[in-house]
Amino acid sequence: MKKQAIVIGSGVAGIASAIRLSVKGYKVDLFESNSYPGGKITAIERKGYRFDAGPSLFTLPHLVEELFTLCGENPSQHFKYITKEESCRYFWEDGTHLIAGTSAETTSLEVEKALGVPAETVRNYLRESAFVWNRTRPFFLERSLHKLNSYLDPTLIPTLLSIHRLHLTSTLHRVNSKKLQHPKLVQIFDRYATYNGSDPYQTPGVMTVIPHLEHNLGTYLPEGGMHDITTSLVALAERQGVTFHYNSPVSKILIHEQKAAGVEVGGVKAFADVVVSNMDIVPTYRKLLSDRPAPETVLSQERSSSALIFYWGIKGEFQDLGLHNIFFSKDYEAEFKAIFQENRVIDDPTVYVNITSKDVAGDAPNGSENWFVMVNTPGDKGQDWDRIIPEVRRNVLDKLKRLLNRDIESLIEVEEMLTPRLIESRTSSFQGSLYGASSNNPLAAFLRHPNFSQRISGLFFCGGSVHPGGGIPLSLLSAKIVGSLVKPGT
Ligand code: FAD
Repeated sequence: MKKQAIVIGSGVAGIASAIRLSVKGYKVDLFESNSYPGGKITAIERKGYRFDAGPSLFTLPHLVEELFTLCGENPSQHFKYITKEESCRYFWEDGTHLIAGTSAETTSLEVEKALGVPAETVRNYLRESAFVWNRTRPFFLERSLHKLNSYLDPTLIPTLLSIHRLHLTSTLHRVNSKKLQHPKLVQIFDRYATYNGSDPYQTPGVMTVIPHLEHNLGTYLPEGGMHDITTSLVALAERQGVTFHYNSPVSKILIHEQKAAGVEVGGVKAFADVVVSNMDIVPTYRKLLSDRPAPETVLSQERSSSALIFYWGIKGEFQDLGLHNIFFSKDYEAEFKAIFQENRVIDDPTVYVNITSKDVAGDAPNGSENWFVMVNTPGDKGQDWDRIIPEVRRNVLDKLKRLLNRDIESLIEVEEMLTPRLIESRTSSFQGSLYGASSNNPLAAFLRHPNFSQRISGLFFCGGSVHPGGGIPLSLLSAKIVGSLVKPGT
C-alpha cells in the first residue's frame, strides 16, 4: 500500500517535489491557494498579448528535463526550448550599447569591441567563474548543508583546498572592480547580484559564479515562453497520478507526537505520512505552524529585493531590442543603497525590458511587441506604493524615451502591473521578495532554512525561500534534495 504525501503550494519546487515523491512510491495530493498552478511562474493574456508574469531568464534546462527522465519519459517530447545566442543587450545613458553573448568567446569579443577592454580580461574572468561553479556546486547547491554526512563527503575536499579562490571575504563589487576595472564592465558583472535579489556592494565575491551560467553554459527560452515550465511539469505530475487541489489554502500543518500528520484545508483535515511545504518559510512558521517554536535567526534574515513590473502591449516594433535588455542607471551604488538601506527606489533606476515576442510567435499581434518592464525595488515594508508606483512609471517612461529616442507612452495599448504587495498576496512570498532571503551576508548559505524540519519528522521544505536559494534552478534543486531525504513510500 502506498504511503500518502501532501505538498503545500504549486510553485515550481512544489510541483517538482510532488513528481519526485510520486516516483518514490507516494500517493501525492498537492494543495494550492490559487485557482491556477505555478506560483511566480504564471502568465497573463490580454487583447492578443501574452506576458510571462514572473521569471524571464531560463538557465540549466537539464534540471527540468531530468524530471521527465526520472519518470521514464523523453523530455524532448514534452518540453521544448530554444537556445539563445545573445544573452542580453545593455544600454547606457551616454549612448554606449553592447550585446553580450552566451559563450565566453562572443561576450569577450563584444566587450572588446564596445568598451575597448582586451578580450582576455573577460575570458579570464569567465574561466575563474567556471572554476568557482565547479568547486561550490556539489557542496553548496546539491546537498543539504544541515546533514553531517555532507561534511564527511570527499567532494568537499577540493572546495576547502580552493577556498581562497572563492572570494568569500570580499564583496562582488570589490572583486569585479579589481578584475575588470572598466566601470561599465564592472556594472555588467555587478548586476549578477540581482539574480538572487542581492546587493553587489554587500554580497560576497563568490557570486562571481553566477555569470558562468549565462556566458559559459548558455541561456534558453521554452518554445511557448517561461509559462511552459509550469504547464509541462503540471502535465507530467498529473500523468504520475499527482492530484492537484486548487483554491485550497492550507491553514495548518498537523503534528502528532513530533511527527507531521497532515494538513488542515478549509476546516477539513487531510492526513499524510509526509508533508512538504512549498509556502515561503516565514508564513509557513507564522501561519501553518503558529503554535510551534520558530527558528527566529533564520526567519529574521534580510529578504531579497522585490520588483515593480509593468506589462505593456506596445503598438510598434523596436529593431534595437532583443529578448533581454538592460538600461543601466547612472549611479548603481545609490540604486542599491536606496533598495537595501533606504527602502525606496531612486529616480533613475536600472530598467529591464523582456520581450518574448522577439522569439515566440503569437505573443503579440503583428507589428506589436509584449514588453515586460521591471525595476528592482525593496520589499513591502509599508511604503506608500500608491505614491511610488506612478513616480517609478514616469521615470521609466522618460528613461526609455531618452535611450530609445522614441516616445513609449503613446504606444502602450495594454497595461497590467505587478507590485511587491501583489507578489506577496498572490504567492505568500514574505514582503513580496523574489528570491527568499538575500545573499548580502557571507553566511547566507548556512542561514537558509534546511529542506527538512529538525524537530518534526516527516516535515520537509522546498522552494526559493529555503536551501539552496531562490530562482528556478535552485528551487528545482531544493525539490531534488527533498526527494533525496524522503524515505521510499512503498
Ligand atoms: P512560488 O512561485 O513562490 O509559489 C509558491 C506557491 O505556493 C504559490 O502558488 C502559492 O499560492 C502557494 N501557497 C503558498 N501558501 C500556500 C498555502 N498555505 N496553501 C496552499 N498553497 C500555498 N527566477 C529565475 O530563475 N529567473 C528569472 O528571470 C526570475 N525572475 C523573476 C521575476 C519575478 C517578477 C519574480 C516574481 C520572480 C523571478 N524569479 C526568477 C524567481 C523565481 O520565480 C522563483 O524563485 C521561483 O519561481 C520560486 O518558486 P517556488 O517553488 O519557491 O514557489
